Order: sequence, then C-alpha cells, then structure tokens
Amino acid sequence: MLLDNLPFVTHIEFMTNTTTEIPARPRKVNLRTPEVMERVQAEVESHYRSVIVEAARANGGLLKVGEVTITLAKAFGFCYGVERAIDLAYAAAKVFQDCKIYLLGEIIHNPEVNEQLAQMKIISLEEGENGYDLSGVTSNDVVIVPAFGAEVKVMDELKRIGCQIVDTTCGDVMSVWKRVRQYAQEGVTSIIHGKAWHEETKATSSRAMGPDGKSHYLVVFNLEETDYVCDYIRNGGDKSAFLAKFKGAHSEGFDPDLHLKRVGVANQTTMLRGETEEVQRRIAKAIADRDGGNAGENFRFFDTICGATQERQDALVEMLREKDVRKMDILIVVGGYNSSNTSHLAEMGEAVLPTYFVKNAQQLESLGKIHHYNQHKKIVEVSSNWLPDGPVTVGITAGASCPNNLIEQTIVRVMELKGISPQSVYAEANRIMKNCC
Ligand code: SF4
Repeated sequence: MLLDNLPFVTHIEFMTNTTTEIPARPRKVNLRTPEVMERVQAEVESHYRSVIVEAARANGGLLKVGEVTITLAKAFGFCYGVERAIDLAYAAAKVFQDCKIYLLGEIIHNPEVNEQLAQMKIISLEEGENGYDLSGVTSNDVVIVPAFGAEVKVMDELKRIGCQIVDTTCGDVMSVWKRVRQYAQEGVTSIIHGKAWHEETKATSSRAMGPDGKSHYLVVFNLEETDYVCDYIRNGGDKSAFLAKFKGAHSEGFDPDLHLKRVGVANQTTMLRGETEEVQRRIAKAIADRDGGNAGENFRFFDTICGATQERQDALVEMLREKDVRKMDILIVVGGYNSSNTSHLAEMGEAVLPTYFVKNAQQLESLGKIHHYNQHKKIVEVSSNWLPDGPVTVGITAGASCPNNLIEQTIVRVMELKGISPQSVYAEANRIMKNCC
C-alpha cells in the first residue's frame, strides 16, 4: 500500500480536481511523512493481510488440503484505488488525532473495512434523502471523501464550511468526471451507464452538468433501459412516461425531445464491460438511424471502466472458461452487497455454475446452510446442501473492496465445514511459503 505518488492532501488538491467547484481555503497538511506511513502500513497489514491468500497466490492460485481444493482467480480483492483510500483514511486518523474526523458515507463498500474506521473514531455521515447532513461539521473538523468521490454540491459545502478535506477519490473516477465535463462544454448530453443511486454515479452526474450547471445527463442502468432510450431517439414518444421511467436518473430540466440530439456515453467505472460496449453500440446505432445512417458529431463515447475492474472481470472469465479443467464445483464471491464491481462478478459466475455471493465467512453457517445475497431480488437468501459431499473444488474471487483477511476466513470456513482444522490450513500455507519464497 503506497502513498508515495500522492501529493499533499489539501484543499488545493480539489481546485485541480474539480474546476467548477468553489475555491477552497488553501491548507496544506502532509499525511505521508515516513513516520505516519510506517505506522499506517503496519496497521493496514495487521488488519487485512492474509498468509493463506499469499500462499495460494504463490502456489498458482491453488490451495489443497485434504479433499478440499481452493482455486483463486488470478486477480481479485483490493484495487489500487481502494488501497489508496484506506491508506489516506488511516493516515488521517493518525495525523488529525485531536480533531473530529467525519467520513462521507462509506470509504469503500465493505462493511468490515468501514467498521475498522468506526473503531478508529472516524464518524460516518449517513446520506439521507436530502444528502449528507453536514450541519454539525465545523471548520475545525476533518472530512474524508470516499474513493467514489462526492457530488459538486457536497464539495462546495465542505469548502464553505472551511473544514480540512481528505480527498480519497480514485483517479479513475476523476477520469470519468473529466470526460463528462468535456461533453458538457461541447453541448453534449452525457448518457452514463451506471447505477443512478450509487455514490460514484451521483458524483459523476453532478459534473456532467458542466461549469454552469445547465448541461444535462441521463443514467441508464441496463440494456432494457438503453433500448427504451434508443426507441425514443428513433421515434420520439411520450415525454412524461420517459421522465417517469427515469425519475431520479436525469438532470433537472432534462427534456428527451431536446437533450438526446447530441449524446456522449460514459460509464460508472465498475460496470460489466460487455454490457457497457453494448450500451454504446445500441445508442450509436439509434443516433445513426435517426440521422440518416451516420451518428457523426451527434455521438461520442469513452470507455471509462477502470483497469482494476477489468482485470478482475477478465480473471473471472478465464476461471469460468477453465471451470471443467479446474474441476470447479461452486464459486464463492466475497464482498459487500452494495459493491458494484463485486455484484458484477457474482452475476458472471451465476451464469455458469452455482455461485454464492457472501459478505464474510459467517455466512457459511453449516454444510447444509449458506446465507448469500441475491442481487436481483436484493435479499439475502438461504440455500441448503450447497457444499458437495466428498472431494470438492471451490473457486473464490472477491471484489475490489474486499480485504484478503476476509477471503482467508472464507477459505478456512470452507475447510472447517469439510472437517479440516484451521491449523492444517495454516500449516499448508506455511509449507508453501517456506518452499517457494
Ligand atoms: S474499483 Fe476502479 S475506480 Fe473504484 S477505486 Fe478501484 S481502481 Fe478506482
């Protein structure tokens, strides 16, 4: 976990990130002194490191004990953006010990990581219908902005208050902001493939309105919504029905008759690549059909899926392709249920084999009972007889917000349920590490 490439965490940083926002009071605080960094890294390692995961990685992604084989995806777990956000939050807790430290919502979408921050006395501000309640924040306080970023209006309010802001927004998210701002400057409406309720997409949408706040955006969640928009682009339709369907997913004053003339597609960084490409293709085709065969200047797109999401999806594609070679019986996807990138991994898995999306090892209650999240119904379901009798191969992957220690606990729990003691699992991990490193 490195902070080496980071500049000071200051208000000034925001002035370069979000040119439309109000100027911030310059206040430089260096969070990355060697002394702070050393303590941060030691603490982060003690909280999230896993010998078992490291051993399995060193062993080509395999860990076999008794009749259980664990096979890991080539890429899984914490991404660079999440590591950076956690490092900064931990550093803030050390540097600003005498201040009240707030966090806008969750630093990342993982309950265990957020719980760790709560134990460090970092107070999470919940987002209500009217946004975050910042009424208690004073100029003496510190506010941490999570890896997904925050809406322009929230940033403006923090700057007005004059508190110390620790910005952990991921650089890949800011790349999307840059793209939608450019669309706005060129008079192009942003169509954002994403989840309108997700923090990142809300932050992106606010930037799509441009410097004067008068530009427009529309968020489409899936191909069904995309087709609805495409049909409107080609044939027009009932404006009220359109606006009702996309309630909460479009800019104020959005008029589909006016604002779908010139569009640019961008996406939330954690969407499924295949779906995003299809969204782009369908919208381009609809514009071309409307405009006599050539979308030309009326259509732009920019793929803004981040490298880490792509890597994890590619690794799972490979794993699923090799399902029979690896003799994989089931797949366990570990991560927070509100994590976008994790939910897409689960979606990919369930199309191929029995897949269980779990937030932690406690969900693996017994051989006959597992609690797992059904993202389509948005409920936690209980399945029985989920772990096959006899020799079994369990595939495991995890979202970008899932720490290795949770993956380790899941591995140990699977083994335990098959009668293998944690001591045997650690012994095997230590044997691998001794032989290979
Ligand atoms: S998933 Fe991608 S965009 Fe999100 S924090 Fe990680 S690297 Fe950044």
